[in-house]
Amino acid sequence: MQKGNIGVTTENIFPVIKKFLYSDHEIFLRELVSNAVDATQKLKTLASMGEFKGELGDLTIHVSVDKDTITVSDRGLGLTAEEIDKYINQIAFSGANDFLEKYKNDANAIIGHFGLGFYSAFMVAKKVEIITKSYQEGAQAVKWTCDGSPEFTIEDIDKADRGTDIVLYVDDDCKEFLEESRISALLKKYCRFLPVPIAFGKKKEWKDGKQVETGEDNVINDTTPLWTRKPSELKDEDYKKFYSELYPMADEPLFWIHLNVDYPFHLTGILYFPKVKSNIELNKNKIQLYCNQVYVTDSVEGIVPDFLTLLHGVLDSPDIPLNVSRSYLQSDSNVKKISTYITKKVSDRLQSIFKNDRKQFEEKWNDLKIFIDYGMLTQEDFYERAKDFALLADTDGKCYTFDEYKTLIKDNQTDKDGTLIYLYANNKEEQYSYIDAAKNKGYNVLLMDGQLDIAVVSMLEQKFEKTRFTRVDSDVVDNLIVKEEAKGEALDASQQEVLATLFKSQLPKMDKTEFHVSAQPLGEETSPVLITQSEYMRRMKEMANIQAGMSFYGEMPDMYSLVLNSDHKLVKGILADESNECATTLAPIQAEIDEVSKQRKELRKQHEGKKDEEIPTAEKDELEKLDKKWDDLKQQKEGILSGYAGQNKVVRQLIDLALLQNGMLKGEALNNFVKRSLELIK
Ligand code: ADP
Repeated sequence: MQKGNIGVTTENIFPVIKKFLYSDHEIFLRELVSNAVDATQKLKTLASMGEFKGELGDLTIHVSVDKDTITVSDRGLGLTAEEIDKYINQIAFSGANDFLEKYKNDANAIIGHFGLGFYSAFMVAKKVEIITKSYQEGAQAVKWTCDGSPEFTIEDIDKADRGTDIVLYVDDDCKEFLEESRISALLKKYCRFLPVPIAFGKKKEWKDGKQVETGEDNVINDTTPLWTRKPSELKDEDYKKFYSELYPMADEPLFWIHLNVDYPFHLTGILYFPKVKSNIELNKNKIQLYCNQVYVTDSVEGIVPDFLTLLHGVLDSPDIPLNVSRSYLQSDSNVKKISTYITKKVSDRLQSIFKNDRKQFEEKWNDLKIFIDYGMLTQEDFYERAKDFALLADTDGKCYTFDEYKTLIKDNQTDKDGTLIYLYANNKEEQYSYIDAAKNKGYNVLLMDGQLDIAVVSMLEQKFEKTRFTRVDSDVVDNLIVKEEAKGEALDASQQEVLATLFKSQLPKMDKTEFHVSAQPLGEETSPVLITQSEYMRRMKEMANIQAGMSFYGEMPDMYSLVLNSDHKLVKGILADESNECATTLAPIQAEIDEVSKQRKELRKQHEGKKDEEIPTAEKDELEKLDKKWDDLKQQKEGILSGYAGQNKVVRQLIDLALLQNGMLKGEALNNFVKRSLELIK
């Protein structure tokens, strides 16, 4: 028996490994099984080159667990005593402590950096044995033992078969790894697509109501997963089946892309466009990243563009450096190339489906939209590709490309300044009457009800030239696209004021909601009362909800315009009736108001150009008195008008109808409306 010290420059590497790699203890199994796979693959390569002439035999790797140990056994190359010394004992490196400190939360980085794969065994084991016999003729089998100190022993032993058994004597605080279910889960996570069969125990079957072991190995992996196979040999069913193996709970995918590149980097994989039912689901199933069929991670941020992290599937590349920190990844030139390549492949695929089967593309548009929108919003180069196949859907469910849509609306939806107005709705039901009004004018209305559409609208406004997006309910239909059309006759100022006062007085009080009331001639056919919300204010509020730093807008009340159509019969009727009812009471007040106004004006005129101290106090007092009187009279007038409006059921009814049309009539107000309606019908 031989004794020696492992060649590390730090006093004792094992406590360090243990201490720093606490979060990822479980990867020891991945490291040991992939070493076994490597040793097996190498032997196969030697055999194919004629350098190994013996029988390969059954190359299955066995993982087993008993009371205190975990064993990984392979029938690969094996190691000679010299090789153990060279590859296992001499792990010399410098600056270890600094590096470990820096990357203490990233086990992959540490393990990759030092080639510590094998030593990760000490994350869970207090003692490790390597029992191995090289494939070389006449090789002496040896057993290497190390108890976690830098000291090891190595001795000759008898071993019948070529290959290596790694035996871990599991530490007391890691007993969980001795549970069959835990190992089974880890093998499934890390090893399910390794290229050499991995057996864990025996297959079980039901017999007489009990599970009993059969004689057959329980092979846990698929050695030729779909992405390693030739696309030309695969059918749609194969891709769907593989998808459901990866994500058992997910719906059937929409499309997939089989990636396969050799140059200038190696990348294989299959990406699926999932059918996403809800937001919560979006990030649940993730793309899995493999390195030569060894599972590495399912956090691919930084490796693929953000919007593609919404896709599902697998990527496999030995050229993605995993032994570096995440922030470093993005600046790696291979990673950049891979990311660009994937973006291009995804857009090429979408483009080709669009071109060859537009019907299918349109049918799936609703599900695809979120990916394409996200991509266009976040990646300039993706926008450039997607602008030819991204669709706009209108409220009738018809789809158009950007170019097609522009052609469709160009003639009828250009305003007097030559700006093209894209009308949209974000809720077909709630905005029904506005959509209807716009359609009656021959306009087309887009349906922008997607999760990202607020942002998409802003983006498209910037990308398209001389274009504005306007929501159908942001103004009365005649003002949506101003083409300087002749309108009906406007009311004079005093009548406008009367109308506004009447309606304002009857508006229900609503929390954080304010109305500006005005009268406009909108034609006899248009509704008598409309509620609109300015595009600008609404968008500011919407952005405030999704963007930090804009909370100021979020705090503001919702501002609506209540527009009275002075051309409408009912509105005209109210004015006429008001004049009948109130003329006699209002006339003397109005006369006084006019008189006060006149006096005020005259006084103010005299004061024009004078400094405050030059104006006699008497005149100042006089003006103050007039102001007060004016206010009083005004209040009297408003009181009379609102008293009248309160009696006029039509005013209330019209307001309520407008509120109802906008989903704003609720609770007691809604109840009153129903009662009043019944009375009116009687
Ligand atoms: P890496 O695999 O990154 O080289 P490891 O620490 O995991 O680093 O392994 C060090 C070396 O030990 C390997 O390169 C290989 O030569 C040898 N080795 C480890 N496990 C086995 C095994 N099961 N069979 C044969 N050789 C092995």
